[in-house]
Amino acid sequence: MGDQSVVVKRACPDCGASARVTIGAQSAKGELRYFESLRCPGCGCQQEADGRELDDDIRNALCAVHGRWSARVRDLGPDHPGALLALRRHLGLTPAEALHVVREARPIVHGALVEVERVQAQLEPAGIQLAIDRLPD
Ligand SMILES: [Zn+2]
Repeated sequence: MGDQSVVVKRACPDCGASARVTIGAQSAKGELRYFESLRCPGCGCQQEADGRELDDDIRNALCAVHGRWSARVRDLGPDHPGALLALRRHLGLTPAEALHVVREARPIVHGALVEVERVQAQLEPAGIQLAIDRLPD
C-alpha cells in the first residue's frame, strides 16, 4: 500500500518566514493517515499535525509531486448485489448511482494515490476490481 511524502514551503504562522513543511500520507487496510511537520528557520517554532482526511492543500502538494489519480470499477466480482452494496456504503451512492458508475465505468474516486488506494482497500473484500489510472498533469 502507498506511502507518499513531500516537502513544501509555507509561511510560518508565528513569524511569517518561509518554513519547511514535511507532509506524509499513507493508506493501509482501508485507513488513510497523514501527518505534517513544520519547522521554521526564522523563529525556531515547530508544529505537528495529523489526521485522516486530506485537505485541499495537502492533496494538492501530494498530487504535484506524485500525480493525480482516479479509479473506475473494472469488475464487480462474483457477488454483484454485495459489490453494489459495498460501493453504496463506502462511496455514499444511491442504488441508481452505484449502477451508473459501474455501467459507464465512471471514476468513483480521484485525488492523491493514497486516497484511491484507500477506496481500493475498502472495496476489495467485496470482490471488486478497480482500474487505477494516473491522470495527465
Ligand atoms: Zn517562524
